[in-house]
Order: sequence, then C-alpha cells, then structure tokens
Amino acid sequence: MKHSELEQIQSQLIEMKEQLLSKTFEFRRTHLEHHESGQDEVEISHQDVSTNLAIELQERDRLTLIRIERALEKIKLGQFGLCEACGGPIQPARLKIQPLARLCVDCMHDYEAAPSPLQ
Ligand SMILES: [Zn+2]
Repeated sequence: MKHSELEQIQSQLIEMKEQLLSKTFEFRRTHLEHHESGQDEVEISHQDVSTNLAIELQERDRLTLIRIERALEKIKLGQFGLCEACGGPIQPARLKIQPLARLCVDCMHDYEAAPSPLQ
C-alpha cells in the first residue's frame, strides 16, 4: 500500500473517531441529563425504550471506536493492512472501502463459512 494511501486512510480514521466522540458527547448530553428531569410515567417508559436503543447504538459506537484505535495503532507500527488470520496483505481496494477490515477477502470467506471469534 502506498504511503499516500495510508495517510488518506489515517485521516479518514481520525475523522471517523472524531465523529464518534462528538456523537458520544451528544448522547450523554441528551439522554443522561434529560433523564433526570421529572416526567409522567408514560413519557418515562417511552423514553426508556429510546434510551435503551440509544445505549445499544452507543455500545456499537464504542466497539467501532476501539477498532479505529487499533487500526491507528497498526498504522503507527507499520502493520496496517495485514490480515489478522493469515498475515497476508489485505487488498488496498478493500481497505479504502472498509478501513477497519481485519481479514483479507479469502480469510473473510473462510470465516463466513465457519464462524469464529475473529469475526
Ligand atoms: Zn487472510
């Protein structure tokens, strides 16, 4: 993978990270603070559903954030773009679309056939 491509992916990852962080901040502001104000029961139970959903999404964002951190770390270490299963290079075209990909296409197909904890 070319250095310029790597730099492009790195700034893409940093941008994704910043977006997630501001979303997290927004989440805390709207859900957690809002939750403390007094409301009638119907509204509260409705709010619980949306809060649970938001927490679920929040959890997914948190995992994505961890994967972004790992990818950025790998860029620093010069290990970015290597498949975590076979150690071979992940196709640059695939990384451009999915910079958080951890498996090359071949391994991904293998793991799809036989689900594993790597997924
Ligand atoms: Zn592989």
